Amino acid sequence: MKLDKVVDLVVIGGGAAGFMGAIKAAEEGVISVVILEATKRTLEKVRISGGGRCNVTNACWEPTELSQNYPRGKSSLIGAFNQFATGDAVAWFEERGLPLIIEPDGRIFPKSNSSKEVIRCLLNTANRAGVSYSTKMIVKTIKFMGEKGFFLQCSDGTSFNAKKILLATGGDPRGKKLAYCLGHQVIPAAPSIFSFNLTDFYHRTCAGITVDNAYLSLKCGSKLFKEYGRILITHKGLSGPAILRLSAFAARELHETRYKALLEVNWTSATNDSIKDSLKLYRENYSSRTLIQKYPFEGIPKRLWISFLSYLGISPQTRWGGFSKSQEIGLCDLLSKNVFSINSRGPYGEEFVTAGGVCLNEVNFKSMESRIQKGLYFAGEVLDIDGVTGGFNFQHCWTSAWIAGKAIAKDLALGTGRN
Ligand SMILES: Cc1cc2nc3c(=O)[nH]c(=O)nc-3n(C[C@H](O)[C@H](O)[C@H](O)COP(=O)(O)OP(=O)(O)OC[C@H]3O[C@@H](n4cnc5c(N)ncnc54)[C@H](O)[C@@H]3O)c2cc1C
Repeated sequence: MKLDKVVDLVVIGGGAAGFMGAIKAAEEGVISVVILEATKRTLEKVRISGGGRCNVTNACWEPTELSQNYPRGKSSLIGAFNQFATGDAVAWFEERGLPLIIEPDGRIFPKSNSSKEVIRCLLNTANRAGVSYSTKMIVKTIKFMGEKGFFLQCSDGTSFNAKKILLATGGDPRGKKLAYCLGHQVIPAAPSIFSFNLTDFYHRTCAGITVDNAYLSLKCGSKLFKEYGRILITHKGLSGPAILRLSAFAARELHETRYKALLEVNWTSATNDSIKDSLKLYRENYSSRTLIQKYPFEGIPKRLWISFLSYLGISPQTRWGGFSKSQEIGLCDLLSKNVFSINSRGPYGEEFVTAGGVCLNEVNFKSMESRIQKGLYFAGEVLDIDGVTGGFNFQHCWTSAWIAGKAIAKDLALGTGRN
């Protein structure tokens, strides 16, 4: 029989959120902080993140604007970002010896371009703050013991007595089960951030081509989602930043319809009427030139233009003068409102996150403490929060964990946790 270990704070989950929460609590004066990690390695997702580079956060500095990048969690996070936002995360890492760089698209990475440096920074800071951690420790049960705090039982028989608990178990169902057993509602998981496989996709030969400034409308059940930006043609359909963003905002609805939905693409970002005007202008002004020699849409690469023409059965060698009215109508419709059926979910983007988790209205975002169970705190992906790609998923982990660590330290110092 192993003896119970008595600690101030047990952090369940040795990921980004778990480490940030533990460090903040220890730096604010909490004496005994222990992280328990189920697997044999801590910070594993940090290691594989951003293709091994770790996109730590994003240069989106203003809390309200930042919150717009979270399909789930948007309104709860505004207040939280007012406590700790992207600028604070950048300062936090740089003050602890991790220089960062901002890429032109706003994504922020370690200057070394290596996630190992982020891990090194978190581990060194945790060591300096006196945080201890154990791997291969799966927390199986948690019991609230009233004045004595919490009693935790691990799979190897080890048990802990903790005054406070920070649940930072990511998307892992084992963590969500613990939250459920402590009285929380857990929203079922659904994948987020993925590409679309399309039925009868006639642009397959254009795989690898990107189109900037596309307008997208997704009709899923009774809901309509809109997005604008760069799309990428794949062998099976569409991907790229605007598609990944669209998939994130419609993640729950797409999951419910089993990824059956209609996607309308405007390839040129121009209206139907102005496309019509451009085609008319070319017919009148360039009548002796062929459709492949000269065409009006700068953003449409030649290979893709040919693909549109061949879908309509129009030879690229046709002269503008011989371009018929019915061909014009067909092309105009295709460019401005090209409708595809989504038949399934394609591969994930660089980040894989799940929608779903602990129900947000059961958590006080000023402290990240449970509204159901006093002394229990949450941080990171265990919550029903997910961001779009670009560093936003780590950012909400840093934010929620920092707030939780600070609140736990304050609570313990005030004596409410010591009883
Ligand atoms: C391939 C990939 C690339 C990504 N790249 C990026 C990126 O570049 N930028 C970005 O912002 N986001 C990225 N993400 C998303 C980001 O990694 C996650 O949002 C983030 O890691 C979540 O952190 P977390 O601490 O909440 O959870 P996790 O990192 O999942 O940590 C939770 C930990 O809890 C442990 N655990 C679970 N249950 C128990 C239990 N009962 N007892 C003990 N331990 C338990 C798990 O083993 C796990 O280690 C990426 C994700 C993937 C998969």
